[in-house]
Amino acid sequence: MGLRPTKPGKSIRTMQQATEFIGRFSHVPLLIGNQWVPSDGSGTTPVYNPSTGTEIAHTPLGVASDVEKAIKAARDAFPAWAAVPAPKRADILFRYRELLLQHLEHIAWLITLENGKTIEEARGDIRRGFEVVEFACGIPHLAKGENLGQLAPEIDGLTMREPLGVCVGISPFNFPAMVAMWMYPLAIACGNTFVLKPSEKVPLTALYLANLFMEAGLPAGVFNVVHGGRKAVEALCTHPDVAAVSFVGSSRIALRVYQMGTSCGKRVQAGGGAKNVHIVMPDADFESAVRAIVGAAFGCAGQRCMAGSILMIPQGTDADFIQRLAAAIDDLAVGDTTAEEGVQMGPVIDGAARDRIAHIVQCTVNQGAIALGAESTPPRPEGFFVQPTLLDGVTPAMDIFQQEVFGPVLSIVHTATLDESIRLANSLPFGNGATIYTSNGGAARQFAREIKCGMVGVNVGVPAPMAIFPFSGWNQSFYGDLHLQGTEGIMFYTRQKVLLSRWDTNYQRINGW
Ligand code: NAD
Repeated sequence: MGLRPTKPGKSIRTMQQATEFIGRFSHVPLLIGNQWVPSDGSGTTPVYNPSTGTEIAHTPLGVASDVEKAIKAARDAFPAWAAVPAPKRADILFRYRELLLQHLEHIAWLITLENGKTIEEARGDIRRGFEVVEFACGIPHLAKGENLGQLAPEIDGLTMREPLGVCVGISPFNFPAMVAMWMYPLAIACGNTFVLKPSEKVPLTALYLANLFMEAGLPAGVFNVVHGGRKAVEALCTHPDVAAVSFVGSSRIALRVYQMGTSCGKRVQAGGGAKNVHIVMPDADFESAVRAIVGAAFGCAGQRCMAGSILMIPQGTDADFIQRLAAAIDDLAVGDTTAEEGVQMGPVIDGAARDRIAHIVQCTVNQGAIALGAESTPPRPEGFFVQPTLLDGVTPAMDIFQQEVFGPVLSIVHTATLDESIRLANSLPFGNGATIYTSNGGAARQFAREIKCGMVGVNVGVPAPMAIFPFSGWNQSFYGDLHLQGTEGIMFYTRQKVLLSRWDTNYQRINGW
């Protein structure tokens, strides 16, 4: 599996082309039955370029009638799409894969424009989603059932996996391509039809992705896009014609969506927030640990559900390690990801996020933590920038210990031993990722066995699984049973039928042949 842009293009040119795509629409449209249509609602919410703070579009705050139309289109399209043989569905996915390659740079620029992450991070966003499409191209193999011949005299048994019907996806702002692509390529490959509601903060990337899927030959109604916030989500999660809901976002909304959907009899998989712990053992390779931790904590301005958020330093880890880390953070180039070269960290998503993060940092300092690093980064008057911040002396009693910051802030907690570090990590309510840095196999093994979370790294800063594995959050980081991605994704979007058949092989004698 590999991804190389076939038309790399100059950044400014691709930026213009991506912007032209947005310019085709005076208002951000819905996609229903392969038609771009306006919302029935009149309310909108602004989409910003977070680097400059300027409004670049307005997302319609969709209403129940928008959702109704999209679900009807998906319901009408379902029988014919479910009947398309799996290899033919795969043909369309292969064409989609090619189009994604050709348009990689455009999509990446759209992501940078509406989300603020760096262009390299945006390429990573689409690359990880692309891998799901590649995985979904294997649907003829992935959707196969099992069989056992002659399980009793003259009786054979087999299982078949069948699609569910209309599936819904609700995605967050932080990975405009990847998270949506954890959902719809697999659901559609399995023979379902789909309604996506992207985050109202980043609606444009989803439209571009949907446009390419249409171009790849997807029949009308198989993939639909609606917009909005709470009202649209409630309409989607309670609609009687929806069979399954995939959600990714904050834990509070994940639980709400899980409860709404399951109480209406639907399958729900709902990824939530996180508070990921990194532990640096005294025998770690400090140079690579610093690099990995800076990437994990400050990549995407800390707006990742796998972001390193708490750094535990057991006794014996050289005090020099913190100085090295602070210096590396100080060196980070923070800037306008849409205009400047060499930027390593961009802005956060909006002014509310910027102010919320600044407030959390101030409260933590007021409670006794010390802010280190990045003092030389000038605050920017425009855009939604937060300085990358290292907070030393954070304790489990401080509010920040349990809070998801979702910004470029790393808290250092000093512990006595690895045992204490694991115990504190396991006291957190979340359970997405955790990483240990060590050169001792025994310490790594103890950590991997005792840590209570679903995605574990050993000397890996962001242990986010590739498309072939499930994205395995635990505790408040996931509500449901079958996770997104991998074969669990295929199981989520299909249901099994068991067929037992009895055929008498003496048919010639019986028929007198
Ligand atoms: P969010 O919960 O605010 O929004 C997610 C989705 O829910 C959006 O589509 C939004 O429109 C919708 N929504 C918002 N408020 C709602 C309400 N009251 N009722 C119903 N729907 C509502 O999350 P966000 O700020 O867009 O994204 C950041 C969060 O997502 C973080 O907590 C992050 O950890 C989490 N996240 C988790 C994963 C994972 O795999 N577990 C991956 C990425 C992001």
